[in-house]
Amino acid sequence: MRSGKGAFLTDVDGNRYVDLVASWGPMLLGHAHPDVIAAVQAAASLGTSFGTPSEPEVLLAEEIVARTPVDLVRLVSSGTEATMSAIRLARGFTGRDVVVKFSGCYHGHVDALLAEAGSGLVTFAVPGTPGVPAAVTAETLVVPFNDRAAVEAVFAEHGDRIACLITEAAAGNMGAVAPLPGFNAFLSDICTRHGALFISDEVMTGFRVSRSGHWGLDGAVEGWRPDLMTFGKVMGGGFPAAAFGGRREVMEMLAPSGPVYQAGTLSGNPIATTAGLTTLRLATEDVYRWLDATAATIASLTSKALEAEGVPHVTQFAGNLFSTFFGRTGTVTNFAEAQDQEPFRYRAFFHAMLDRGVYLPPSSFEAWFVSAAIDEEALNIIGEAMPYAAKAAAAAQDVQS
Ligand SMILES: *Cc1c(COP(=O)(O)O)cnc(C)c1O
Repeated sequence: MRSGKGAFLTDVDGNRYVDLVASWGPMLLGHAHPDVIAAVQAAASLGTSFGTPSEPEVLLAEEIVARTPVDLVRLVSSGTEATMSAIRLARGFTGRDVVVKFSGCYHGHVDALLAEAGSGLVTFAVPGTPGVPAAVTAETLVVPFNDRAAVEAVFAEHGDRIACLITEAAAGNMGAVAPLPGFNAFLSDICTRHGALFISDEVMTGFRVSRSGHWGLDGAVEGWRPDLMTFGKVMGGGFPAAAFGGRREVMEMLAPSGPVYQAGTLSGNPIATTAGLTTLRLATEDVYRWLDATAATIASLTSKALEAEGVPHVTQFAGNLFSTFFGRTGTVTNFAEAQDQEPFRYRAFFHAMLDRGVYLPPSSFEAWFVSAAIDEEALNIIGEAMPYAAKAAAAAQDVQS
């Protein structure tokens, strides 16, 4: 791609695409929002990195604390760093080593979290990529998402060794798979009962699915809060900025006030934090209403087109994140079910959409991301492309079989 403006990307040949990836989430307001660009240009002219706190860094931290249930926040440069540091902190705080995660949940490329479940209810995880020693994932336990019995079982067996449980507040990295009602509250409770920390990873959902992220849709309503939360993507406004935060007592274990080491040369960078702060200040309740409405419109265009061609499918939402599982009729609640779809149909659909000027996530295991810049023109382009893409999906053959 060469440039982006509002809801559109333009490639090096001059082709324009409606963008439903939004840089995998950060571009909540669309590309090159004039206020964000102006703020970034002004910040750049003041100097690019100081290695000591700057005003936008403090203001961004205050904005995060105001929108979420965290008492204290530490800025880092990527979501990966946020989850890596949150886990180190949880281990340091509890004096325990074991981490519980869910299959199909992605938390960045932290070695210990690149663990994938084998078959069976609970599996001591083997690494999901070359380059990660088995010893590193040996302390990671992987359980199926949305499965209370599996979580109960793992805590019953290993409870006093578990430092933390980490989950995506709503899964968006296996397609959109929301937690079942009460599931996150259950996780929070079982962690508390066993002296483990509950880490809610809101790198994708934070400041996207509501003003307060996914927590705004469940914890804020139900009256619980995670011990630690991780943020990224939207809060950087298209620059490398991320964060983790949580209960004061836990966060004060971090250096320099406590013994758990964490640092970063470019953390809280003034340009990145200016972009993030400007983005969050523009992300008003009206913006969230528009994002929700736009997601619903696009999902319904997709379903109508697929229905017209007789392609079985399930469209699921996690707030305004959504995705369509092709070749399925049943709800997807976990990773095993997410894998039971027909990716070859999505592949055909994706390419037909791209040919007609709509850029979707290039995988059937990713959520679709709307931006506030999606307008009538963009929706018309999407609506016109859909019937062709649905025909392509209906005609697609599974080349492997
Ligand atoms: C994207 C993502 C991360 C990793 O963030 P990076 O900035 O890519 O390192 C972590 N957790 C979740 C839920 C994500 O979606």
